[in-house]
Formats: sequence, structure tokens, C-alpha cells
Amino acid sequence: MTRPVFRFAPSPNGRLHLGHAVSALLNADLADRMNGRLLLRMEDIDPGRSRPEWAAAIREDLAWLGLRFEEPVRHQSQHLATYRRQVEALATAGLAYPCFCSRRDIAAAVADRSATTGRPAPRDPDGGPLYPGTCRHLTLSEIAARRAAGAPHTWRLAMDRALAVAPGSFHIHAFADPDRPAAREGVRPIGSVTPVAQERGGGIANPSRWGDAVIARRDVPTSYHLAVVMDDAVQGVTHVVRGADLLAATDLHLLLQALIGVPSPAYRHHPLIRDPSGEKLAKSRGSQSLADLRAAGITPEEIRRRFGFRA
Ligand code: GLU
Repeated sequence: MTRPVFRFAPSPNGRLHLGHAVSALLNADLADRMNGRLLLRMEDIDPGRSRPEWAAAIREDLAWLGLRFEEPVRHQSQHLATYRRQVEALATAGLAYPCFCSRRDIAAAVADRSATTGRPAPRDPDGGPLYPGTCRHLTLSEIAARRAAGAPHTWRLAMDRALAVAPGSFHIHAFADPDRPAAREGVRPIGSVTPVAQERGGGIANPSRWGDAVIARRDVPTSYHLAVVMDDAVQGVTHVVRGADLLAATDLHLLLQALIGVPSPAYRHHPLIRDPSGEKLAKSRGSQSLADLRAAGITPEEIRRRFGFRA
């Protein structure tokens, strides 16, 4: 039987905090108990935020936690040409189109539409305005003229066409862990943080709520969504274990997997660790990093024990 493949996929734009630690420990624990492989992937497509120093610091934090990953570690920034080719293939198939709108253009179009209809602007699961479709119907010559003039553009998924060619509905295959029921998972507080969200399961995905999602940015020939789907496939990932904040993203990932023609892994979305005000931990909110905890004398064993892992 082929061994299950797990991965931890941090973005190297700062130090890891406890939320990352729980995610990494869950992946490692499941891989261990299911005789699986454990991979590491640096999601470093953002040239403005990702830094090699952070990637090195993340590896140091993971080693401090006692986690070992298979080599080589995949760095998304080294595979931009592969993502670009996939975007081109989707465009050739009529499933993606260039979008020349700036954020301001989109905000204005959405406000106009809302004023006309008297209804609030629909939002995507990340809270951004659902793309109103301004560039969806540009003619080939209009597109050629704008590109020749050097106008920057993103690439968007043509959601209606994508759903029309994708086979049927998308079932999120969620996997449970019989040895660690969700109710018990990470319920003990550590320091000043407490996990609150319930584990989220499977069900039928609804990719259309993302509208014509961006699959390639202006500055990078991919988006998080496309890169994660392609990399999970290339790395042979069978089990994705990540935070509940990415549950809605999974809806879009299932559609992209169908369009690209790669298998869908099984998913498990674990509860997020939140600070006392109920906010998700984040560097930008000054949440304590693992390095801070280490400096304060907290040991990896304490972290493991407090979140219910074997020390
Ligand atoms: N790179 C993402 C993050 O750090 C995680 C992506 C994933 O697990 O699918 O939030």
C-alpha cells in the first residue's frame, strides 16, 4: 500500500507562532501514526513579504519542536515557470482571462452596481468584493491592445465556464482521526491563548462563492490557490491538514484540481488558536512567536503536552 503523504506549508514572511506549531505537530503526529511521509513546503511566492532568513528561522523553529521533514524542501519561488504554464493552459482552454482592473476599479464598479441594485455588494469568502466581471467579456483585440501597451493584469478563473466543464459536484473528503477525537484536540490553554473553533469537516464544496478568483497576480504568475493545488499534486500529497481559516479555500482548490486533472487529497481543517480577544494569532497583531516562547523558557515538551501531543 502506498504511504500517506502529509505536508506543512508555511509562508516564510515571519517567525512561526503557536498556531503554526499546532498545525505542524498535527501533521507530524498523523504522519507518524499512519506510517506516512512528512514534507515541508515554503510558500514563498510573495516577493514583497517572503525572505530566505524567515525560511531559515522557520526550519530552526521546527527542528526545535523536534520535527523532521523529508528533503528536499520545496520552495514555490523556484517553480514560477510551471505555474505560468498552467495559467496559460487554462487560458487556452477558455477557463482563464486577463483582468486589467485595479483594486480601485473593482471597488468603483462594485459601488456602482450596488447603488443601481440597492443591494450590498456580494463578497468572497475572504471578505473581498466578488469580482463584478468587468474584463470577462473583453475581445481578443482589446486584450492584445492592452497587453501591447504594457498594462499590468492578473489572470482570473472564468468561474461559469469552469463549473460548466468540471465534472459534477465536489465532495470534500474529510478524514477523521479515530485516536484523537476533534472535541479533545487542543482544548487546553497555553499561556494566554485558547483554541476555540471547532474542527470543520467535509461536505459539498461550493467553489462559485469565489466568483472569478485571481489565479495569477500582477507581479507573480500564480496565486496562493493555484500554487497550493499544483504543489500538493506534484508532491503527491494525500492528506492536507491545515487551519479552519482555509476551509473556504478548499472549495476553490477542489475545482482547480478537477480543471487541472489532478487527484484531490483528503482534508482536515483543525481549530485555530486564538488570543484572549478571540483574534486569530498573527505576527501583525504582535502574537508571541515560538522564538519568544523559547526565550521565555517554554520547552517544546510543554507545548506538545499542553496541546495534547505526546511529549
Ligand atoms: N501557506 C499557507 C499559510 O501559511 C498554508 C497553506 C496550506 O496549508 O494550504 O497560511
